[in-house]
Amino acid sequence: LYSKKLTTYGSKPSISLEFFPPKTKTGLDNLIKRIERLTIAVQPIFITITYSQLNNKKTLDLLEMIIKNNNDVFKNVNICCHLTCTNSSYQVINETLDKCLELGIKNILALRGDSVENDTNNNTDFRYAVDLVRYIKKRHGDDFCIGVAAYPEGHYNNEYNSNTNSYISSQSFREDLVYLKEKLQAGASFIITQLFYNVDKFLQFYNEYKSIIPDYKKYLMIPGIMPINNFMIFNRATKLAHVDIPKHIIDRFPIDIRNDDDQVRNIGVNIMVEIIERIYEKTNHEVNVFHFYTLNLEKSIAQIISKSTLLSQILEDSDSDESDSSYEDAV
Ligand code: FAD
Repeated sequence: LYSKKLTTYGSKPSISLEFFPPKTKTGLDNLIKRIERLTIAVQPIFITITYSQLNNKKTLDLLEMIIKNNNDVFKNVNICCHLTCTNSSYQVINETLDKCLELGIKNILALRGDSVENDTNNNTDFRYAVDLVRYIKKRHGDDFCIGVAAYPEGHYNNEYNSNTNSYISSQSFREDLVYLKEKLQAGASFIITQLFYNVDKFLQFYNEYKSIIPDYKKYLMIPGIMPINNFMIFNRATKLAHVDIPKHIIDRFPIDIRNDDDQVRNIGVNIMVEIIERIYEKTNHEVNVFHFYTLNLEKSIAQIISKSTLLSQILEDSDSDESDSSYEDAV
């Protein structure tokens, strides 16, 4: 089988990579080659593929292509399928889980998802991610290793409350931690966080997480890292995710270079290396796996790994034949 459970990961610093299914066939072909190149160059411990409730076939098609098209490249990589449940029926969830099992996928990131415009489904089978975690456990026992999302700066809740005709407002990270604990108690084993650039906020979240979850070492906490490739996208992504950009980070992008993607990326690479290394140090190496929101781009990931003394160890320690290949060659 191509996919092992993530609970079998080792204790050395590692990374994971997230991709989303492209819209076109050409995009799909290009992405497969890119995933292959990146997998050889940076050896992620797992790859995740995002899921869209209205277009879930694209996720399954991409997963199938990765698994069936390939030779040896993916043999040591675990695959994780995102799965959202809001407005979804048991039937759709069952079909997706069955397809994952058929493909040998053992890892599911169980999410609530967000309400989608023009969605005519009115299913109430699931309300929160915890309902999906419980459902997977009930239907499949330990067949899957389940991950869940967490929000170091709190979750901006855009759930609509039809009684008050308004959106339920954002939750503080403390309120959200209660529900994170519920998801872990329901059977989740790993956590991937929302992207963030404020390490102090992540550390505060992590310390409070540890204080309410005494057996926290049982779970893998993976910070979500989004490389900065383009200033406008960086700005937009942080607004969409409702996360802070600390002043000391914004100040590193003088206005006159903000349209120059190469300069922005180079500065962004240094920032991400600092963020990753600070988290590793300040958590006494407890946090040692980093999840990259790749946006389907490869260059900055390779640069971050080659610039980071910590992450470069991934390749130095590797037994793989591919460990000699240069990251820069791969992009
Ligand atoms: P939940 O854990 O259900 O939480 C949702 C909100 O409800 C939170 O505010 C929480 O505090 C609150 N809550 C939870 N349980 C309860 C309860 N019992 N009572 C009251 N309130 C409660 N979206 C996609 O569509 N596709 C993807 O592939 C995708 N991938 C993602 C990957 C990561 C790593 C992350 C962080 C997010 C991803 N998302 C994705 C976005 C995610 O679906 C949204 O952020 C969604 O709004 C919340 O999902 P959740 O699983 O965190 O929800």
